[in-house]
Amino acid sequence: MIKVSNLTKNFGKLTVLKSINESIKKGEVVVVIGPSGSGKSTFLRCLNLLEEPTSGEINFEGTSITDKSVNINLHREKMGMVFQQFNLFPHMTVLENITIAPIKVKGICKEEAEKTSHRLLKRIGLSDKAQSYPNKLSGGQKQRIAIARALAMSPDVLLFDEPTSALDPEMVGEVLDVMKELASEGMTMVVVTHEMGFAREVASRVLFMDDGQIVEQNTPSQLFSHPQHPRTQDFLSKVL
Ligand code: ADP
Ligand code: MG
Repeated sequence: MIKVSNLTKNFGKLTVLKSINESIKKGEVVVVIGPSGSGKSTFLRCLNLLEEPTSGEINFEGTSITDKSVNINLHREKMGMVFQQFNLFPHMTVLENITIAPIKVKGICKEEAEKTSHRLLKRIGLSDKAQSYPNKLSGGQKQRIAIARALAMSPDVLLFDEPTSALDPEMVGEVLDVMKELASEGMTMVVVTHEMGFAREVASRVLFMDDGQIVEQNTPSQLFSHPQHPRTQDFLSKVL
C-alpha cells in the first residue's frame, strides 16, 4: 500500500531522515518507536505530505505522491492523521468537528455526514457528546473524537503520532481500546507510540528509529525479546 524509497528530509543543514526504505502492506499495524528527535514525527508527516520530502519517493496505492503533480488534498483524504494534541476546532461542536471535512472537502450532504458522524460517535461510546464543545471534554474523549473525525473521511490508512502522550494515565486505555478495535477490523495503521504494551499486543511489525534511520524492524515478540542492534538494546533497556 505504501512504498517509501530513499526518503530523505533536510531541515536546513540538518538531515533528519536519512534515505529511509520501507514498505507497508494493507491491513498492517506498524508501530514506530525510538528516542526523541530520531525523526519519527517527520517520517509520518512526510507520508501525509505535511512535510515535503527533500528527496526520494513515496508511492501510495500505486501513485507517486512525491511527484509534483499529485493532488495533496486527495491524498490526505485517503490517509488520515491523529495528533498528540488532538487539534479539534475549539469553536465547533463535536458533530461539526466530525462533519466539516466530509461536507467541505468530499462534498457529502449535511444529512449524510451527520448520519455517519452519529454512527461513529456511537461506536466510540460518545453519542451523548454530539452537541458538546471540545473544552467540555476530557483528553481521552477529545482524542476519541479526533479518531472519529479522521474515520469520517473513510481513509485507507490512519497515521497516529503519539496519540496518548498528552493524556492523563487513566485515559490512555480508552484511546488504545478504540485503536485496538480499528486494528482488529483490518485498518492499516502507522502508529508512533511509547506504549510498548500496545505494540506487543497489536503491532504486525515494530520499527525502531534512531538518528533518522530505521535501525531495526521485526515482529514485536522478536524485537522486544531479541533486539539485534546495540542501539535498539540500549533504547529498550530504558523503556521496558
Ligand atoms: P521525533 O518525533 O522522533 O521526536 P522529529 O521528527 O520531531 O523527531 O524531529 C527530528 C529532528 O528534526 C529533531 O532534531 C528536530 O529538532 C528536527 N525538526 C523537526 N521538525 C523541524 C522543523 N520544522 N524545522 C527544523 N527542525 C525540525
Ligand atoms: Mg515526535
